[in-house]
Amino acid sequence: MNKVNKKEIIKSLKVQQEIFGDELFIPKKKRTTMVVKEPSALFTEPELFPKEKADWEKASSLEELEKLICNCTKCDLHKNRNKFVFGTGNPNADVLVIGEGPGAEEDKQGLPFVGRAGKLLTDMLRAIKFEREEVFIGNVVKCRPPGNRTPLPDEMETCMPYLKRQVELIKPKLILCLGLTAARGLLKKRESLGSLRGKVFEYEGAKVMVTYHSAALLRNPNWKKDCWEDLKKFRKLYEEIV
Ligand code: URA
Repeated sequence: MNKVNKKEIIKSLKVQQEIFGDELFIPKKKRTTMVVKEPSALFTEPELFPKEKADWEKASSLEELEKLICNCTKCDLHKNRNKFVFGTGNPNADVLVIGEGPGAEEDKQGLPFVGRAGKLLTDMLRAIKFEREEVFIGNVVKCRPPGNRTPLPDEMETCMPYLKRQVELIKPKLILCLGLTAARGLLKKRESLGSLRGKVFEYEGAKVMVTYHSAALLRNPNWKKDCWEDLKKFRKLYEEIV
């Protein structure tokens, strides 16, 4: 049937429809969408394409891991780096504290939380009966973002596997995320800090809680009261499970 004929027929049918009602037309069936299962639901990728692990993924201690990743050039943050900030503390810690990324002082010294925000963190930990040396302190990104800006999503994604390997090696029972960047990097959640605080999440077998970053508390001392409530809950959870 050519296009003109088809148009003519439809036109005359419509006229008939107007006169005789709807019966002339059979309602069009709604299209149904076929659900195609995602490939990952049918088979697991590693079975088909086993990827050779990088050396750092096979590191069996924190020391070895640090040696293997400290010259990393995977993202642009390495370009302005003075020192790679791996993290410090007890390699067998029950508690892992995670910040965002090194600041100027941390970049200079190669150690996490050694500036003003670091001093406040030391006090926050002491307030809930932890010494810095008994916990492990690390960051989502290991190199200083220029001007202390928030790390970009791709910088976080590139660096997160290092933190994941650190968690696998330390095997902490509890993790405290300082601020939204740490929480989002680890938990892959988009919620606000307000809705993440006070809840208990899981990461690699560890219980995770989220509170304010100590640098944010320096800017907004009003938040210290709420942070204190979070820290007390964190200590309580520690006492329940350790
Ligand atoms: N802020 C962070 O998030 N990490 C540090 O190491 C220092 C300041």
